Amino acid sequence: MCDCMVCERIDWIKNGKNPYFVRELQTGYVVIGDHQRIKGYSLFLCKQHATELHELEPSFRDAFLHEMAVVAEAVYNAFQPDKLNYELLGAGRGLHMHWHIFPRRAGDTPKPGPVWQLGDELLAEEYLPDAAALEELKMRLNVELDKLLEEK
Ligand SMILES: [Zn+2]
Repeated sequence: MCDCMVCERIDWIKNGKNPYFVRELQTGYVVIGDHQRIKGYSLFLCKQHATELHELEPSFRDAFLHEMAVVAEAVYNAFQPDKLNYELLGAGRGLHMHWHIFPRRAGDTPKPGPVWQLGDELLAEEYLPDAAALEELKMRLNVELDKLLEEK
C-alpha cells in the first residue's frame, strides 16, 4: 500500500471525493490549496509518483512544465496577484513532486519573503474555505483555465 499523501489525494480525485479538485490535465491535477491564508493558493500535482523533474521521461517532463506554466497563468488571471511564487516540493514516502503556486500581494506576510515564515498560521483552521468560498475559487480558476486551454 502506497503511503504517499499526494497519491492519496489523487485517489480521492479519481473516486470523486476531493472537494478541492479543479481540473485534470494531461500530466497532472489542478487543486485549490487546503488553506487560503494566501488567497488563491493552488497546486498542480504530478500524475507520476516521481521525486525530481529529471526522473521523468523527457516528453512527459516537457508537457508537465508546459502545463504548469498554463496553470500558473490561470491562477494569475483568476486571482490578480502582484507576483506568483512557484515551488516544486515533495510529500509522503518516496517524495511525490507537486507545484505550489502562491499568488503574492504586497504586505501579505509580516516581512517580505516566502510564505513559510507564517508557520502554523498558514494551516490555521480559520483559513479553511467554507463550501461556498471553495466553489467560488474553483469556478474562477476553471474559467481562466478554459480561456487558456481553448487558445491552444
Ligand atoms: Zn505519490
